[in-house]
Amino acid sequence: MMEASATPRRLWIRDPLAILAEGAGGGIVVEGTRIVERVAAGARPVAPVDETFDAGRHVVIPGLVNTHHHFFQTLTRAHPIAINKPLFPWLKALSTIWPRLTPEAFRLASRLAYTELLLSGCTTAGDHHYLFPKGLEASVDIQVEEARAIGIRAFVTRGSMSLSEKDGGLPPETLVQDDDTILADSERVLSLFHDPKPGAMVQIGLAPCSPFNVTKRLMHESARLAERHDCRLHTHLGETLDENAYCLEMYGQRPVDYLEEVGWMSARTWLAHGIHFNDDEVRRLGAAGVGVCHCPTSNMVLASGRCRTCELEAAGSPVGLGVDGSASNDNSNLIESVRHALMLARLSYRAEDVSHLDALRWATEGSARCLGRDDIGRIEPGREADLALFTLDELRFSGAHDPLAALVLCGAHRADRVMVAGSWRVIDGAPIGVDTGDLREAHTRLARELFGTL
Ligand SMILES: [Zn+2]
Repeated sequence: MMEASATPRRLWIRDPLAILAEGAGGGIVVEGTRIVERVAAGARPVAPVDETFDAGRHVVIPGLVNTHHHFFQTLTRAHPIAINKPLFPWLKALSTIWPRLTPEAFRLASRLAYTELLLSGCTTAGDHHYLFPKGLEASVDIQVEEARAIGIRAFVTRGSMSLSEKDGGLPPETLVQDDDTILADSERVLSLFHDPKPGAMVQIGLAPCSPFNVTKRLMHESARLAERHDCRLHTHLGETLDENAYCLEMYGQRPVDYLEEVGWMSARTWLAHGIHFNDDEVRRLGAAGVGVCHCPTSNMVLASGRCRTCELEAAGSPVGLGVDGSASNDNSNLIESVRHALMLARLSYRAEDVSHLDALRWATEGSARCLGRDDIGRIEPGREADLALFTLDELRFSGAHDPLAALVLCGAHRADRVMVAGSWRVIDGAPIGVDTGDLREAHTRLARELFGTL
């Protein structure tokens, strides 16, 4: 009772080395879960504060927002059956061992991925989970529990596969569920966990895996369900030329025409990858407000191609960033992906057209827009206090002059402090409440036992 009526604690994060926010040279004030004030350089907060954190060694940016991942894949990183292959052969090879996933392994994989993301400065962790083998029917429940325990904001999408090899799809029979089972569970997890309100710590989206492993009926029905529950829709689209060829052969249409036919051309939808679109398709996606999660690291690992980030943004599509699953990245380091996004963009665009600030914007505000959120992704009064603070005291930063550019160009890897909803979740580079040594040991052991090749 006392807590409910108490005035929220006011914290001044003062005089940062640099901050990614206009007019905040003197820092920001956090009250409860939100940012309430930007303090100009040399000024003081307008009202008294309870606590001050001296950020003189820190570069402060909005907490990064991850919009695509597959946590379970942390157990099959750098796997010999899959490395050095493009998407379809990679997927077919891994699909032979993924049915061995257990609830215990999935829980540890989720804990590990959340922790890795958090340590890289990520405060909202999206995952696209589409494996529901027998015994793992409560996967979404596990991911929500783990997110709550760690204190990270989570965007869990209930993925699905319903088209197995015998029906012309890619996955084996053991990894698919029927449409009605998927839809019933989607409804269950939306009712249990989805919070559509600003400041939500857990949101649920619906995410049939891709055109090559679900039925069109499931796509249609998922769009209707999303409308009813006011949630987002997510899927893989336009990742490889093989996918375009598959869609033409299976459905007689290109992926974007498929998306339109199944009722997904809306601002409720964001896509993973979005690489192989022609000019007309980019225009149509932009006009509909469909978001695209760019996954630069994964696209390079699988030799998939380059996302047309600038054309998509110019057409009206929100563009965000994702690390993608850990069998095609093979880490969960989102600040590293910011650097990769900048480097990859420089192969397609003029140096003056894409800067480190654009790459940071994709990973923050752009990703937040993909998730349909305007309460995170920027440092401004009224938004949630989700922040990542980096120091520049490693050798890699020595001699750097512009602190914000240094973060991206010198290759920051680990945040020193991370705040989610006004609470510190990483202090001195260590996650609160997680023993990383124990976690790594248990996770490694299960990865070997379940997915080892010997
Ligand atoms: Zn993916």
